[in-house]
Order: sequence, then C-alpha cells, then structure tokens
Amino acid sequence: MAFVAVLPQMSCGQRSIAVGDARFRVAERGASPRRYIHIHGNEQTARRALAEHMRNRDGRAFFVEGDGRNVTVGGLTIDPNRMFSPVGARASFKRLNPDATPDAISSALAVLERDLPALLRALLPPDGGLIISVHNNSEGYNIRTEIPISEARHLPEPGVPNDFFLLTDARDFEVVKGSPYNAVLQTKPATEDDGSLSRLCAARGVRYVNLECFAGRLARQREMLRWVDEALPMLRP
Ligand SMILES: [Zn+2]
Repeated sequence: MAFVAVLPQMSCGQRSIAVGDARFRVAERGASPRRYIHIHGNEQTARRALAEHMRNRDGRAFFVEGDGRNVTVGGLTIDPNRMFSPVGARASFKRLNPDATPDAISSALAVLERDLPALLRALLPPDGGLIISVHNNSEGYNIRTEIPISEARHLPEPGVPNDFFLLTDARDFEVVKGSPYNAVLQTKPATEDDGSLSRLCAARGVRYVNLECFAGRLARQREMLRWVDEALPMLRP
C-alpha cells in the first residue's frame, strides 16, 4: 500500500460530467471563479473561440461533446439549452420527439432531475461570479429577436445584429454600454421560462453573459470573448 496515494486534484485536470447521454468535458485551470460553457455541439466557431481563449486563462470551462445541436437524455432528444427548467425541458422533449408518450417524457424528465444538480454544482460560479456562454447563430436569429423581451438595449452596430451580448446583470450591462458591441439586458424576462441557462441564471441572480456571433466569424468571436472577459469584474458584491 505504500505507494498507493490519492493524488490531489490537478489544477489543470480534466473530467467530464454526464447529463443523460450528454457529456460535458470540464477543463479547469487555476482557482478562478470564472465559468465558461459551449453547449451546442454544432456551433463550432464558438467551440474553437472558447478553446483558444482558455489556453491562457484561469477558470473552469465546459465543452459539450459531439457535433450535434441536440443531445439524448433518457432516450429522447432535447436541446441542451432548454434543459434547465422542468417546463422548458418538457416543451423541448415534446417539440423534438412528437411521438413520445407521456410516460417516456416523464422518465426523461426524471433523468434530468437526477443528473442536472451535479452539472449545476460545477457550472454555476460562486456568489458574485460570472458565467460566459458562447453561441453561434445564422439566419433567423439575432439581437432583434431578443429586443422585445429585453429591458434595455445597446445598439452601436445595428448593421451587425447577429453579433451581440445578452446579459442578466444590470451592472455588467452598464460596462458593456461603454463598448462598441451590441447588447441586451434581461434580468427578468416576461415570457414563459424556456429552460435556457440564461433564464436559470436570471432567476437565481447569477451574473451571466451570452456571447452570440454569426457562425464562422472566429476572429470576431475571439475578440468579443476576450473583451468581455477582461472588461467585467471577476466578482461583484
Ligand atoms: Zn447555441
């Protein structure tokens, strides 16, 4: 037994967390309270921008495995950015599995209820911390989709509506208003909870920034990610 020792967790160690059949690779460096996530596997510009960003950054980053937008939980397909509330998850299960029985949906929801707490424990930052989520969009979704359900907007680049920040903290939004980048603020969106991570963070008072860029604009996403990460404070009281 002499040399059987439990090694302390390596500061640059890697592990993964499963939610149903979905797996999130966790890359961690240092002891920063900053959190990052790439949640839609098909959004490959965002994945690459975040992977490059983390090369010289302390913090904990989550990368969904696979190249598909959706994941499988309890035998059913779900959009992983709709799994963070039971009502949102149920709607996503129904939409993506129109032939699923109520029992099948209930058991898939039970898998989420079992697996999500471990992901959230690792993913949500400590009090006052910030989570940065990276996404890509294409035709059909841009900041104009969000403006009607947002409390405030900053539109210095109206001709580039696909590239923008969505924030849940009014103080962070004030900082972004000093930037050349588009942004919206949603601390308490009025529409029904869609199960997205932004809604969960808004409901729990967690500082959250969603960085959206048009798919393929890697240099742009890299630049906006670096800017927001450096501009926003690590912790707020
Ligand atoms: Zn996305």
